[in-house]
Amino acid sequence: MQKYISQQNLNTLLDTLIKQGTRVVAPRMNSGTPLYEPLLSSAEMVSDQLPRRSAKEAFFPVCEDIMSYTKEGQQVNLKDIDPATFPETVLVGVRPCDAAAIPVLDAVFSWDYKDEFFLERRRKTTIIGLACTTADDACFCTAVGLSPADTKGSDLFLTPLEGGGYLCDTCSDKGEALINGSEGLFAEATQAKTVTLAVPQTEAFDLKKVKSWLDEHFEDPLWDGVAVRCVGCGACAFVCPACHCFDIVDEGAEKSGKRRKNWDACGFWKFTHHASGHNPRDLQPKRYRNRIMHKFKYYDDKFGQTLCTGCGRCVRICPVGIDIAAIVEEINKKCLSRRIWPNVS
Ligand code: SF4
Ligand code: SF4
Repeated sequence: MQKYISQQNLNTLLDTLIKQGTRVVAPRMNSGTPLYEPLLSSAEMVSDQLPRRSAKEAFFPVCEDIMSYTKEGQQVNLKDIDPATFPETVLVGVRPCDAAAIPVLDAVFSWDYKDEFFLERRRKTTIIGLACTTADDACFCTAVGLSPADTKGSDLFLTPLEGGGYLCDTCSDKGEALINGSEGLFAEATQAKTVTLAVPQTEAFDLKKVKSWLDEHFEDPLWDGVAVRCVGCGACAFVCPACHCFDIVDEGAEKSGKRRKNWDACGFWKFTHHASGHNPRDLQPKRYRNRIMHKFKYYDDKFGQTLCTGCGRCVRICPVGIDIAAIVEEINKKCLSRRIWPNVS
C-alpha cells in the first residue's frame, strides 16, 4: 500500500510521538558528525547525510548494563536490568543498507540463546526507511543484492518526491499501525515523480561464487596481501550495521558493581586470546580473514544470509584504506584489482 506524507506532516508526526513519550531516533548532527540519536524535536533530523555509525545502536548499544550487584555483609544482592522497561521507539530516516542489516541480526540474536535486550527493543521499534538520493565511491549495496530503494527491514519506507514530501510504502503490520494511529497526516499516494535515486557504481558480486571460493581457500596468499596493512583498530566492525560481537565484563568493586555488555571486534588481537596465552588468530591476516569469512561464508553457512549490506562505512573509516568491496571484487573476478587500497599511494 502506498501513501503520501508531506514534510510538514512528517515533522508533526515525529513531534507528536516525542510529546507522547516515544523515543524517536533519527540521523542528527552531534558536534558536526551525523549519528543516529534520540531527537528532542523533528527540526534536529538531517536527511541528506549517511550517519557515520549504523542504526544497529538503537537495538544493540555500544555498551549497556545487564545486571548490577551490591554486597552488605555476607548478603549479595543481584538486580537484573528488565528489558520490559525499554521505551517504545520509532527509528526514522534509516538508510536501506542499515535497515536491511536489522533482520540479518535477528537471526543471530534469536538463535540458540534469545537475547532479550536486542529482541525487546526490536519488538518495540518501528523502522521508517528512507531511499538514498546520493551515493559515494564507497557505497556498494547493489553489489550485494540490495538497492538505494530497498525496503528490507523497514516497516514504512519513504521515497522523496520532486516538489517535496514523500511516497510512503507500507511494509509491515507495524508500519500500518503507525499510519492508522496518525489520523490526517497520510494521504492517498500522489502522482508526483520520485526524485532520482542514487546509483552505486560497483558491479554485482556473484555471492555464491565468492562463498565457494572461500569454502576452498582458508589458506591463501590473498590474506597476507590484503591484511598486511591492517592495524587491528576495530573501526570497521564498530561502524558496521551487521557486525555484532560483544564481550561481557564485570566492572566494579567488592561492595557494588555492574555486569556490562560491550561491543568487541574480531580485528582486536585479544579477541581470541586464550587464558593459556595461546592465540589461534595470532597474526592480523588471520583476523582479517575471519572478518571476510564471517561475512561471506560462516554467516551464510549458519543462517543463509550475507553479513554485509554494502554500506561502505568500513571502507570510508579504515585508517589504512582497506576496501572490503575491492577484496570481494577480487575474489569475485579472481584477478588483482587496483581498487584494493584506493586511499594509499
Ligand atoms: S562490512 Fe563494511 S560495507 Fe559491509 S555492511 Fe559492514 S561496514 Fe558496511
Ligand atoms: S578499520 Fe582497517 S585497520 Fe582498522 S581493523 Fe578494520 S581493516 Fe584493520
